[in-house]
Amino acid sequence: MILRSLKGVLELEQRPLFQQLFTAFVLVSTLTVLGITWYANLSVREQIISGALSELQVRATLLANQLDDVSRDTGYDWQSLITRLHKGVDMRITLISPDGTVLADTDGDPVYMDNHAGREEVMPALDGRTAHSQRFSATTGVQRMYLALPMFDRDSLVTAVLRTSYELDGVDARIRHIASRITFSGLLLALLSCLLGFYISRRFSRPLVRMRQVADDFAAGQLGRRLPPAGTLELNSLASSMNKMAASLDRRLRDLAEQRNEREALLNSMTEGVIAVDGEGNLLSCNPAARTMLQLPDEALRAQHLPTLLGGGPLTDFLDHMLASGDHRESCELTLQHGNPLYLQVTGSPLQDSQDKRFGVLIVLNDITELRALEGIRKEFVSNVSHELRTPVTSIRGYVETLRDGGMQDPTQATHFLEVIERQANRLNNIIEDLLALSRIERREDPRQLNLQEIQLDHLVSVMVQDHLPIARRKNIALQGQCATSLVWRLDINMIERALVNLIINAIHYTDDGGRVELRACVKDEHLLLEVRDNGCGISSEHLPRIFERFYVVDKARSRSVGGTGLGLAIVKHVAAAHGGKVEVESVAAQGSTFRLVLPRV
Ligand code: ADP
Repeated sequence: MILRSLKGVLELEQRPLFQQLFTAFVLVSTLTVLGITWYANLSVREQIISGALSELQVRATLLANQLDDVSRDTGYDWQSLITRLHKGVDMRITLISPDGTVLADTDGDPVYMDNHAGREEVMPALDGRTAHSQRFSATTGVQRMYLALPMFDRDSLVTAVLRTSYELDGVDARIRHIASRITFSGLLLALLSCLLGFYISRRFSRPLVRMRQVADDFAAGQLGRRLPPAGTLELNSLASSMNKMAASLDRRLRDLAEQRNEREALLNSMTEGVIAVDGEGNLLSCNPAARTMLQLPDEALRAQHLPTLLGGGPLTDFLDHMLASGDHRESCELTLQHGNPLYLQVTGSPLQDSQDKRFGVLIVLNDITELRALEGIRKEFVSNVSHELRTPVTSIRGYVETLRDGGMQDPTQATHFLEVIERQANRLNNIIEDLLALSRIERREDPRQLNLQEIQLDHLVSVMVQDHLPIARRKNIALQGQCATSLVWRLDINMIERALVNLIINAIHYTDDGGRVELRACVKDEHLLLEVRDNGCGISSEHLPRIFERFYVVDKARSRSVGGTGLGLAIVKHVAAAHGGKVEVESVAAQGSTFRLVLPRV
């Protein structure tokens, strides 16, 4: 029972170590001190009582020796003898005859006293044995301690019993006095050992509490914290092990974070969309390119079911197929309809863990829309070129056949046919030259490949005007140039001249007789503006967005009549792009057009 309650007190898994240690200390020290105090009190009591008994015996023996010298007549006044001997002695003395009659007593009158033969200590004494007892005294009315000593004659017969006694109160008072001092010392000792226990418990529990706090911090991710030395060999080595563990964890976590950041940076910077899903099709990861391609929301997508997010379609089918049977790499081309069609090259591969067990699928999306568009442009370009080339070639072949079939007979007709053939041949030449120029310029769209020189713009403007004055005069068109003197810009002169020629020739061609064409160079917002303005036929707004496309012409007949190829403005656009600039157009039908090259400083 006691053990169980002690266990209950000590079974303290949920209580702090300090409490456990301190409680154990208090219990052990209190029990020990209590035990020692109890034992000391008991020993002291025994010592005092046996001391008192020895005193009673010594006194009784001394008195008995004195009494032996005295006659033992019945008429002897024992009372006065005993009273005399009693002087200066603080004990009661009783003399009892062998029949139990009290002959004398220091504390009472024997006349009135009972026969003492039946008293506990007297009985053995009457039989010749010294005896003692503790009991209540009928004569004095208090608790007493007695010692009865038999006195013998020469024949060893008991002649009397001499009894000495102390009041037990006096003895008890001495015992209490000493016991209280022992108990007080015990309590003081218990208190001191409790204080010591408090100090030791704190000393041992504190480092552990600190360790727990730091371990909590480690668990919360603060791995930079360190434990100070804890004061004992075992705790010190535990603290150092924990510090080492935290440092190594910290290092590993940093490595992991670095690897994750690198992987994320890689995925984020990829133009290919990368998606990883688990075996059920739930998203494990999805990079921004994939989100953009699939128009998925930006918020956290992790663990969302991808087929549900996609809501059906060819990619969902591909994903389902890969999830069902994707043990090897597969790839296909898909078209997604998100407003404009999105052409995707999709590759799916199984995701495998370290035991080669498949746990999901990795999908890589390659946007091939631009490639497809370029393919379309290439096809359109080839068909345009073929078409544009076929027309003059067909015409030339037709006239050549006509000449061979007798057209040569009529010199006037033959001359006319030859003129047409020459014109078509020139047209063919123009187209081929423009195509070559275009491809040359396209190859040099990187400004580093330009042949840049400091060009005096007023000089360039005046040369351009001079060169085209004859053609302008033929149509009675006023051609003017305007440029601030000393305007210098770094340009590829050949390319710029080619672009300006195209613009000036167009302006003259598409302006009626008596019109006006102006070439202007100036600087605005840190950009060089080269402007060709005319007051010709202009271009209606529906054509404006397309006039820089290759072979795009507004009025085929008019373009052809002036020897146009439909490539002139495409060349201008590429010249501007090669200089890092752009070309703008403002035009109103029947009022005129302004073409403007806007070039930055390179
Ligand atoms: P082209 O060789 O046919 O002139 P361009 O590429 O130079 O081809 O021009 C494309 C079309 O833009 C022309 O067919 C013409 O209809 C229109 N255009 C170009 N310049 C002008 C202009 N200054 N005024 C009106 N229309 C123009």
